[in-house]
Amino acid sequence: MEKKLIHGETLGELEGAVVAMGQPKFRAKQVADWLYKKRACSWAEMTNLPVEFREKLEDEYVFCSTVPIKIHKSQDTTRKYLMQLGDGSLVETVSLWAPDVEDETGFGRVTVCLSTQVGCAYGCNFCASGLSGFKRNLEAGEIVDQLLTVATDIEKESGKTDRFPIDNIVVMGMGEPLANYQNLIQALTIINSDWGLRFGARRITVSTSGLVPEIEKLADEKIQFRLAISLHGTTNEVRNQIMPINRKYPLEKLFPAIKQYSEKRGRMITLEYILIRDLNDSLSQAQQLAKIAHYLHAHVNLIPCNKVESLSWIAPMPAVQKQFIGFLKSANVSATIRLEKGDPIAAACGQLSFKTKVG
Ligand code: SAH
Ligand code: SF4
Repeated sequence: MEKKLIHGETLGELEGAVVAMGQPKFRAKQVADWLYKKRACSWAEMTNLPVEFREKLEDEYVFCSTVPIKIHKSQDTTRKYLMQLGDGSLVETVSLWAPDVEDETGFGRVTVCLSTQVGCAYGCNFCASGLSGFKRNLEAGEIVDQLLTVATDIEKESGKTDRFPIDNIVVMGMGEPLANYQNLIQALTIINSDWGLRFGARRITVSTSGLVPEIEKLADEKIQFRLAISLHGTTNEVRNQIMPINRKYPLEKLFPAIKQYSEKRGRMITLEYILIRDLNDSLSQAQQLAKIAHYLHAHVNLIPCNKVESLSWIAPMPAVQKQFIGFLKSANVSATIRLEKGDPIAAACGQLSFKTKVG
Protein backbone atom coordinates (compact mmCIF):
# COMPACT_ATOMS: atom_id res chain seq x y z
CA MET A 1 0.00 0.00 0.00
CA GLU A 2 1.33 3.39 -0.93
CA LYS A 3 1.77 5.67 2.05
CA LYS A 4 -0.47 8.71 2.36
CA LEU A 5 0.77 12.15 3.43
CA ILE A 6 -0.14 12.92 7.04
CA HIS A 7 -0.28 16.70 6.40
CA GLY A 8 -2.86 16.11 3.66
CA GLU A 9 -5.52 14.67 5.99
CA THR A 10 -8.41 16.61 7.48
CA LEU A 11 -9.39 15.97 11.09
CA GLY A 12 -12.38 13.93 9.90
CA GLU A 13 -10.13 11.74 7.76
CA LEU A 14 -7.70 11.28 10.65
CA GLU A 15 -10.57 10.23 12.88
CA GLY A 16 -11.63 7.56 10.38
CA ALA A 17 -8.04 6.34 10.13
CA VAL A 18 -7.34 6.11 13.86
CA VAL A 19 -10.59 4.25 14.50
CA ALA A 20 -9.64 1.81 11.70
CA MET A 21 -6.36 1.30 13.57
CA GLY A 22 -8.32 0.25 16.66
CA GLN A 23 -7.71 3.52 18.55
CA PRO A 24 -10.29 5.80 20.15
CA LYS A 25 -11.43 8.73 18.04
CA PHE A 26 -9.87 11.38 20.32
CA ARG A 27 -6.43 10.21 19.22
CA ALA A 28 -7.01 12.02 15.90
CA LYS A 29 -7.18 15.36 17.70
CA GLN A 30 -4.01 14.47 19.60
CA VAL A 31 -2.26 13.73 16.30
CA ALA A 32 -3.52 17.02 14.78
CA ASP A 33 -2.27 18.92 17.85
CA TRP A 34 1.17 17.42 17.43
CA LEU A 35 1.20 18.24 13.72
CA TYR A 36 -0.13 21.81 13.83
CA LYS A 37 -0.14 23.19 17.38
CA LYS A 38 3.16 21.77 18.60
CA ARG A 39 4.50 21.41 15.05
CA ALA A 40 6.29 18.13 15.73
CA CYS A 41 9.05 17.20 13.28
CA SER A 42 8.87 13.44 13.86
CA TRP A 43 6.58 10.66 15.11
CA ALA A 44 8.96 10.08 18.03
CA GLU A 45 8.08 13.48 19.51
CA MET A 46 4.42 12.48 19.92
CA THR A 47 5.06 11.16 23.40
CA ASN A 48 1.45 10.99 24.64
CA LEU A 49 0.60 8.45 21.93
CA PRO A 50 1.14 4.72 22.54
CA VAL A 51 4.28 3.43 20.82
CA GLU A 52 2.41 0.79 18.79
CA PHE A 53 0.03 3.46 17.51
CA ARG A 54 2.94 5.68 16.47
CA GLU A 55 4.46 2.72 14.64
CA LYS A 56 1.18 2.14 12.81
CA LEU A 57 1.04 5.79 11.82
CA GLU A 58 4.58 5.55 10.52
CA ASP A 59 3.66 2.46 8.48
CA GLU A 60 0.74 4.23 6.81
CA TYR A 61 1.85 7.84 6.49
CA VAL A 62 4.74 9.92 5.16
CA PHE A 63 5.64 12.58 7.74
CA CYS A 64 7.01 15.24 5.41
CA SER A 65 6.90 15.16 1.61
CA THR A 66 9.02 18.23 0.73
CA VAL A 67 12.78 18.12 1.11
CA PRO A 68 14.54 21.45 0.48
CA ILE A 69 17.50 20.25 -1.57
CA LYS A 70 18.69 23.76 -2.34
CA ILE A 71 18.00 27.11 -0.70
CA HIS A 72 18.91 30.23 -2.60
CA LYS A 73 19.15 33.36 -0.46
CA SER A 74 19.17 36.79 -1.93
CA GLN A 75 19.88 40.05 -0.12
CA ASP A 76 18.39 38.61 3.04
CA THR A 77 14.86 39.30 1.88
CA THR A 78 14.06 36.48 -0.53
CA ARG A 79 14.61 32.81 -0.21
CA LYS A 80 13.89 30.27 -2.91
CA TYR A 81 13.56 26.70 -1.80
CA LEU A 82 13.95 23.99 -4.38
CA MET A 83 11.70 21.29 -2.97
CA GLN A 84 12.09 17.66 -3.92
CA LEU A 85 8.92 15.61 -3.70
CA GLY A 86 8.52 11.90 -3.02
CA ASP A 87 8.68 10.94 -6.71
CA GLY A 88 11.77 13.11 -7.32
CA SER A 89 9.80 15.96 -8.95
CA LEU A 90 10.92 19.49 -8.17
CA VAL A 91 8.88 22.56 -7.31
CA GLU A 92 9.86 25.93 -5.95
CA THR A 93 8.61 27.63 -2.81
CA VAL A 94 9.56 31.23 -2.10
CA SER A 95 9.63 33.27 1.07
CA LEU A 96 9.69 37.04 0.94
CA TRP A 97 10.60 39.05 4.00
CA ALA A 98 9.49 42.66 4.26
CA PRO A 99 11.65 43.99 7.09
CA ASP A 100 10.29 47.51 6.77
CA VAL A 101 6.75 46.46 7.57
CA GLU A 102 7.01 45.98 11.29
CA ASP A 103 4.57 43.82 13.15
CA GLU A 104 4.13 43.82 16.91
CA THR A 105 7.06 41.43 17.38
CA GLY A 106 9.37 43.72 15.44
CA PHE A 107 10.28 40.83 13.19
CA GLY A 108 8.87 42.10 9.89
CA ARG A 109 6.33 40.44 7.66
CA VAL A 110 6.95 37.17 5.88
CA THR A 111 5.01 36.06 2.80
CA VAL A 112 5.31 32.55 1.41
CA CYS A 113 4.55 31.69 -2.20
CA LEU A 114 3.36 28.11 -2.73
CA SER A 115 3.35 25.89 -5.82
CA THR A 116 0.34 23.73 -6.67
CA GLN A 117 1.48 21.70 -9.70
CA VAL A 118 4.65 20.27 -11.17
CA GLY A 119 4.85 22.33 -14.37
CA CYS A 120 1.82 24.04 -15.84
CA ALA A 121 -0.44 23.15 -18.75
CA TYR A 122 -1.54 26.71 -19.54
CA GLY A 123 1.54 27.82 -21.43
CA CYS A 124 1.41 31.60 -20.95
CA ASN A 125 4.22 32.68 -23.19
CA PHE A 126 5.99 34.99 -20.70
CA CYS A 127 6.18 32.40 -17.91
CA ALA A 128 8.90 29.90 -17.05
CA SER A 129 6.55 27.50 -15.24
CA GLY A 130 4.82 26.35 -18.39
CA LEU A 131 7.98 25.91 -20.46
CA SER A 132 8.38 22.20 -19.94
CA GLY A 133 4.68 21.41 -19.87
CA PHE A 134 2.56 19.87 -17.18
CA LYS A 135 3.67 16.88 -15.14
CA ARG A 136 1.19 16.41 -12.31
CA ASN A 137 -0.96 17.99 -9.63
CA LEU A 138 0.50 18.36 -6.16
CA GLU A 139 -1.27 16.49 -3.41
CA ALA A 140 -2.80 18.50 -0.57
CA GLY A 141 -0.07 17.28 1.80
CA GLU A 142 2.63 18.48 -0.60
CA ILE A 143 1.11 21.97 -0.57
CA VAL A 144 0.91 22.05 3.26
CA ASP A 145 4.40 20.58 3.62
CA GLN A 146 5.91 23.41 1.55
CA LEU A 147 4.57 25.88 4.10
CA LEU A 148 5.69 23.87 7.13
CA THR A 149 9.16 23.28 5.68
CA VAL A 150 9.66 27.01 5.12
CA ALA A 151 8.27 27.85 8.60
CA THR A 152 10.69 25.42 10.21
CA ASP A 153 13.61 26.88 8.27
CA ILE A 154 12.70 30.44 9.31
CA GLU A 155 12.40 29.38 12.95
CA LYS A 156 15.71 27.58 12.84
CA GLU A 157 17.40 30.70 11.56
CA SER A 158 15.63 33.27 13.75
CA GLY A 159 15.65 31.13 16.89
CA LYS A 160 12.08 32.36 17.55
CA THR A 161 9.31 29.83 18.00
CA ASP A 162 6.75 31.89 19.91
CA ARG A 163 4.39 32.26 16.94
CA PHE A 164 3.88 30.87 13.45
CA PRO A 165 6.54 32.80 11.54
CA ILE A 166 4.55 33.38 8.34
CA ASP A 167 2.10 36.28 7.91
CA ASN A 168 0.78 35.89 4.37
CA ILE A 169 0.40 33.07 1.90
CA VAL A 170 0.18 33.65 -1.85
CA VAL A 171 -0.60 30.71 -4.09
CA MET A 172 1.39 32.02 -7.04
CA GLY A 173 4.19 29.54 -7.49
CA MET A 174 4.47 26.87 -10.15
CA GLY A 175 1.17 25.75 -11.65
CA GLU A 176 -2.42 26.90 -11.99
CA PRO A 177 -4.02 26.50 -8.54
CA LEU A 178 -7.60 26.34 -9.80
CA ALA A 179 -6.69 23.49 -12.14
CA ASN A 180 -5.89 21.48 -9.00
CA TYR A 181 -9.03 22.65 -7.27
CA GLN A 182 -9.80 19.84 -4.86
CA ASN A 183 -6.29 19.45 -3.50
CA LEU A 184 -5.91 23.23 -3.22
CA ILE A 185 -9.08 23.55 -1.14
CA GLN A 186 -8.12 20.56 0.99
CA ALA A 187 -4.67 22.08 1.70
CA LEU A 188 -6.04 25.54 2.46
CA THR A 189 -8.69 24.02 4.72
CA ILE A 190 -5.96 22.28 6.74
CA ILE A 191 -3.98 25.54 6.89
CA ASN A 192 -7.04 27.58 7.91
CA SER A 193 -8.89 25.23 10.31
CA ASP A 194 -9.01 25.65 14.06
CA TRP A 195 -7.65 22.13 14.46
CA GLY A 196 -4.97 22.89 11.84
CA LEU A 197 -2.67 25.91 11.52
CA ARG A 198 -5.46 28.47 12.22
CA PHE A 199 -4.08 30.68 9.47
CA GLY A 200 -6.61 33.43 8.60
CA ALA A 201 -8.25 33.17 5.17
CA ARG A 202 -7.82 36.92 4.65
CA ARG A 203 -4.09 36.39 4.68
CA ILE A 204 -4.28 33.79 1.90
CA THR A 205 -4.37 34.89 -1.76
CA VAL A 206 -5.05 32.50 -4.61
CA SER A 207 -3.86 33.65 -8.05
CA THR A 208 -5.42 32.34 -11.24
CA SER A 209 -4.93 32.88 -14.94
CA GLY A 210 -8.72 32.96 -15.22
CA LEU A 211 -10.49 29.59 -15.02
CA VAL A 212 -14.08 30.83 -15.07
CA PRO A 213 -16.00 27.78 -13.72
CA GLU A 214 -13.55 27.40 -10.85
CA ILE A 215 -13.71 31.12 -9.97
CA GLU A 216 -17.49 30.69 -9.74
CA LYS A 217 -17.02 27.66 -7.52
CA LEU A 218 -14.49 29.45 -5.32
CA ALA A 219 -17.01 32.23 -4.68
CA ASP A 220 -19.19 29.68 -2.89
CA GLU A 221 -16.48 28.09 -0.72
CA LYS A 222 -16.92 28.36 3.03
CA ILE A 223 -13.46 29.82 3.51
CA GLN A 224 -13.07 33.35 2.14
CA PHE A 225 -9.69 33.53 0.46
CA ARG A 226 -8.47 36.56 -1.40
CA LEU A 227 -8.42 36.30 -5.18
CA ALA A 228 -5.85 37.63 -7.65
CA ILE A 229 -6.43 37.44 -11.40
CA SER A 230 -3.52 37.37 -13.83
CA LEU A 231 -4.97 39.81 -16.36
CA HIS A 232 -1.92 41.05 -18.30
CA GLY A 233 -4.00 42.30 -21.22
CA THR A 234 -6.97 44.67 -21.40
CA THR A 235 -8.35 43.35 -24.70
CA ASN A 236 -8.87 39.86 -26.06
CA GLU A 237 -6.52 40.71 -28.87
CA VAL A 238 -3.58 41.32 -26.53
CA ARG A 239 -4.48 38.62 -24.04
CA ASN A 240 -4.82 36.00 -26.81
CA GLN A 241 -1.24 36.70 -27.82
CA ILE A 242 0.21 35.82 -24.42
CA MET A 243 -2.31 33.66 -22.56
CA PRO A 244 -3.83 30.72 -24.45
CA ILE A 245 -6.47 30.35 -21.70
CA ASN A 246 -8.07 33.55 -23.02
CA ARG A 247 -9.37 31.70 -26.08
CA LYS A 248 -11.38 29.43 -23.82
CA TYR A 249 -12.40 32.09 -21.29
CA PRO A 250 -12.23 35.48 -23.02
CA LEU A 251 -12.72 38.73 -21.11
CA GLU A 252 -16.48 38.82 -21.67
CA LYS A 253 -16.71 35.53 -19.75
CA LEU A 254 -14.00 36.34 -17.21
CA PHE A 255 -15.28 39.73 -16.03
CA PRO A 256 -18.77 38.57 -14.95
CA ALA A 257 -17.19 35.73 -12.95
CA ILE A 258 -14.80 38.14 -11.20
CA LYS A 259 -17.59 40.61 -10.52
CA GLN A 260 -19.76 37.91 -9.07
CA TYR A 261 -16.86 36.76 -6.87
CA SER A 262 -16.19 40.18 -5.42
CA GLU A 263 -19.86 40.93 -4.91
CA LYS A 264 -20.41 37.65 -3.07
CA ARG A 265 -17.30 38.19 -0.97
CA GLY A 266 -17.72 41.90 -0.49
CA ARG A 267 -14.06 42.62 -0.92
CA MET A 268 -11.60 43.91 -3.49
CA ILE A 269 -9.81 41.50 -5.75
CA THR A 270 -6.38 42.13 -7.27
CA LEU A 271 -5.58 42.31 -10.96
CA GLU A 272 -2.01 41.25 -11.70
CA TYR A 273 -0.66 43.02 -14.76
CA ILE A 274 2.79 42.20 -16.10
CA LEU A 275 4.15 45.20 -17.98
CA ILE A 276 5.60 43.97 -21.27
CA ARG A 277 7.44 46.33 -23.58
CA ASP A 278 5.52 47.30 -26.73
CA LEU A 279 2.78 44.81 -26.00
CA ASN A 280 0.59 46.10 -23.18
CA ASP A 281 2.36 49.23 -21.92
CA SER A 282 0.71 52.00 -23.96
CA LEU A 283 -1.27 54.83 -22.45
CA SER A 284 -4.46 53.71 -24.17
CA GLN A 285 -4.07 50.35 -22.44
CA ALA A 286 -3.55 52.11 -19.11
CA GLN A 287 -6.83 53.93 -19.77
CA GLN A 288 -8.60 50.68 -20.54
CA LEU A 289 -7.07 49.05 -17.44
CA ALA A 290 -8.34 51.92 -15.29
CA LYS A 291 -11.86 51.38 -16.65
CA ILE A 292 -11.66 47.65 -15.93
CA ALA A 293 -10.32 48.22 -12.40
CA HIS A 294 -13.16 50.61 -11.61
CA TYR A 295 -15.75 48.27 -13.10
CA LEU A 296 -14.44 45.28 -11.12
CA HIS A 297 -13.65 47.36 -8.04
CA ALA A 298 -10.14 45.91 -8.14
CA HIS A 299 -6.66 46.80 -6.96
CA VAL A 300 -3.99 46.67 -9.70
CA ASN A 301 -0.58 45.16 -9.08
CA LEU A 302 1.85 45.99 -11.88
CA ILE A 303 4.81 43.66 -12.37
CA PRO A 304 7.58 44.70 -14.75
CA CYS A 305 8.14 41.60 -16.89
CA ASN A 306 11.15 39.60 -15.87
CA LYS A 307 13.19 38.28 -18.71
CA VAL A 308 12.96 34.51 -18.92
CA GLU A 309 15.75 32.82 -20.81
CA SER A 310 14.49 31.60 -24.22
CA LEU A 311 11.45 33.93 -24.09
CA SER A 312 11.53 37.26 -25.84
CA TRP A 313 9.38 39.55 -23.65
CA ILE A 314 11.05 42.26 -21.59
CA ALA A 315 9.93 45.08 -19.29
CA PRO A 316 9.29 48.62 -20.54
CA MET A 317 11.84 51.31 -19.70
CA PRO A 318 11.48 52.65 -16.13
CA ALA A 319 10.08 55.97 -17.42
CA VAL A 320 7.29 54.13 -19.23
CA GLN A 321 6.52 52.07 -16.12
CA LYS A 322 6.32 55.28 -14.11
CA GLN A 323 4.02 56.89 -16.62
CA PHE A 324 1.76 53.83 -16.66
CA ILE A 325 1.30 53.70 -12.88
CA GLY A 326 1.09 57.49 -12.77
CA PHE A 327 -1.85 57.37 -15.15
CA LEU A 328 -3.65 54.70 -13.10
CA LYS A 329 -3.21 56.72 -9.93
CA SER A 330 -4.41 59.91 -11.55
CA ALA A 331 -7.51 57.96 -12.60
CA ASN A 332 -8.04 57.07 -8.92
CA VAL A 333 -7.14 53.42 -9.31
CA SER A 334 -5.58 51.71 -6.30
CA ALA A 335 -2.31 50.51 -7.85
CA THR A 336 1.12 49.29 -6.80
CA ILE A 337 4.18 48.29 -8.76
CA ARG A 338 6.76 45.71 -7.84
CA LEU A 339 10.20 47.23 -7.64
CA GLU A 340 12.80 47.50 -10.36
CA LYS A 341 13.83 44.59 -12.49
CA GLY A 342 16.59 42.71 -10.74
CA ASP A 343 14.89 43.28 -7.42
CA PRO A 344 14.87 39.96 -5.64
CA ILE A 345 11.17 40.16 -4.85
CA ALA A 346 10.21 40.97 -8.41
CA ALA A 347 12.15 37.96 -9.56
CA ALA A 348 10.84 35.72 -6.88
CA CYS A 349 7.38 34.48 -7.37
CA GLY A 350 5.78 32.73 -10.29
CA GLN A 351 8.98 32.26 -12.17
CA LEU A 352 11.16 29.32 -11.55
CA SER A 353 14.78 30.08 -11.97
CA PHE A 354 16.43 27.05 -10.40
CA LYS A 355 18.15 24.97 -13.00
CA THR A 356 19.25 22.08 -10.82
CA LYS A 357 19.21 18.63 -12.33
CA VAL A 358 18.79 15.87 -9.83
CA GLY A 359 20.07 12.31 -10.08
N1 SAH B 1 -1.06 30.17 -12.58
C1 SAH B 1 -1.41 31.22 -11.70
C2 SAH B 1 -0.46 31.35 -10.53
C3 SAH B 1 0.99 31.19 -10.84
S1 SAH B 1 1.74 32.41 -11.90
C4 SAH B 1 -1.52 32.52 -12.46
O1 SAH B 1 -1.17 32.56 -13.63
O2 SAH B 1 -2.01 33.47 -11.86
C5 SAH B 1 2.05 33.64 -10.65
C6 SAH B 1 2.33 35.03 -11.14
O3 SAH B 1 3.65 35.16 -11.69
C7 SAH B 1 1.34 35.48 -12.18
O4 SAH B 1 0.79 36.74 -11.93
C8 SAH B 1 2.21 35.45 -13.38
O5 SAH B 1 1.66 36.20 -14.33
C9 SAH B 1 3.57 35.93 -12.83
N2 SAH B 1 4.69 35.74 -13.78
C10 SAH B 1 4.92 34.66 -14.55
N3 SAH B 1 5.97 34.91 -15.41
C11 SAH B 1 6.40 36.17 -15.16
C12 SAH B 1 7.43 37.01 -15.73
N4 SAH B 1 8.21 36.59 -16.72
N5 SAH B 1 7.61 38.25 -15.21
C13 SAH B 1 6.81 38.68 -14.19
N6 SAH B 1 5.83 37.94 -13.64
C14 SAH B 1 5.60 36.70 -14.11
FE1 SF4 C 1 0.74 28.61 -15.73
FE2 SF4 C 1 0.28 30.90 -14.32
FE3 SF4 C 1 2.59 30.51 -15.66
FE4 SF4 C 1 0.33 30.91 -17.03
S1 SF4 C 1 1.35 32.38 -15.61
S2 SF4 C 1 1.91 29.32 -17.49
S3 SF4 C 1 -1.14 29.83 -15.76
S4 SF4 C 1 1.87 29.33 -13.91
